[in-house]
Amino acid sequence: MALIDTFGRLHDNLRISVTDRCNIRCFYCMPEDVPSFLSRQEILSFEEIERVARVAAGLGVRKLRLTGGEPLIRKDLPVLVEKLNRMPGIEDMGLTTNAVLLEGLAKPLWDAGLRRLNVHLDTLDAARFAQITRRDDFGRVMAGIEAALALGFRIKINAVAVKNLCEPDVVPLARYGRERGIEIRYIEFMPLDAQGIWDKGKVLLQDDMLAILAREIGPLTEVPGRDPRAPATEYRFDDGIGRVGFISSVSKPFCLNCNRLRLTSDGKLRYCLFAIDETDVKGLLRGGAADSEIEDAIRSTIRAKWLGHEINSQRFVAPPRPMYSIGG
Ligand code: SAM
Ligand code: SF4
Repeated sequence: MALIDTFGRLHDNLRISVTDRCNIRCFYCMPEDVPSFLSRQEILSFEEIERVARVAAGLGVRKLRLTGGEPLIRKDLPVLVEKLNRMPGIEDMGLTTNAVLLEGLAKPLWDAGLRRLNVHLDTLDAARFAQITRRDDFGRVMAGIEAALALGFRIKINAVAVKNLCEPDVVPLARYGRERGIEIRYIEFMPLDAQGIWDKGKVLLQDDMLAILAREIGPLTEVPGRDPRAPATEYRFDDGIGRVGFISSVSKPFCLNCNRLRLTSDGKLRYCLFAIDETDVKGLLRGGAADSEIEDAIRSTIRAKWLGHEINSQRFVAPPRPMYSIGG
């Protein structure tokens, strides 16, 4: 019954993208001018998303995460959050956001039952924020984080680590996290940008960031007893104040324990961020398919799952869709 792939990996985690649109333009994700976004008709309705989630929960999915594009620009998102959060079988729910709209939406999301947020923030410097995101919304992001903290949300910050750019931000972010009780998670720059700017030399690697943190703040020790299926390797500062995490898809891929399945906003199931193939579920949803056919689509996606991406190999082929259109 459970979703186990041909390599024995149990899949209980579904990431759902609710839109491919975004209100900012991080250079490593989106171009300034996006040639076209999906139309309203092309993206799944809340009812369609709920149906896929319900069928997936029946197959053992226990964790959901909403993402995008920027999920907070999807109209009435708290309505979807509330429905998914109450769905039988779902034990854990999170949202990944750039927090530009969070100040106004934190309370409705809290009331809808959401408790965990991953906020994307690469720098604490307003000018650098504008340089990276091509928008001037640093103040709104910080206000959003504060509003969410005041309500009691558990927050992690995701910072994308690009070499020769993000080094000055590593320490200020960690210090901010230590002060505010927020885990900063540094994400190695991945080949998922829309403009093909990635190359391995542009990745700020986990070991380099660890060295910077140890030198500037103090020694860190890897947190023992890590859940092998969690993507981040966590370290705590030896002075007992705070921790940081690393999502090191390039230098230390974690594919062997991957438990994730993805649903794009246009209704495609994917077994990996880097997958080339995907399974159309929207056609089933809109073609009158029975739940058993949606189950089959989910199972066949899991069956097709590869052992892992090959970022570090000559054979690597970047997926045909950039991060914002897959759902990061
Ligand atoms: N807009 C939301 C946000 O930025 O958090 C959700 C979608 S975004 C695509 C999800 C995550 O992808 C972000 O937190 C960002 O850190 C990460 N991301 C985007 N482009 C990336 C890249 N090329 N390499 C590594 N991480 C990336
Ligand atoms: Fe938007 Fe998130 Fe992509 Fe930045 S990373 S452009 S916030 S979707």
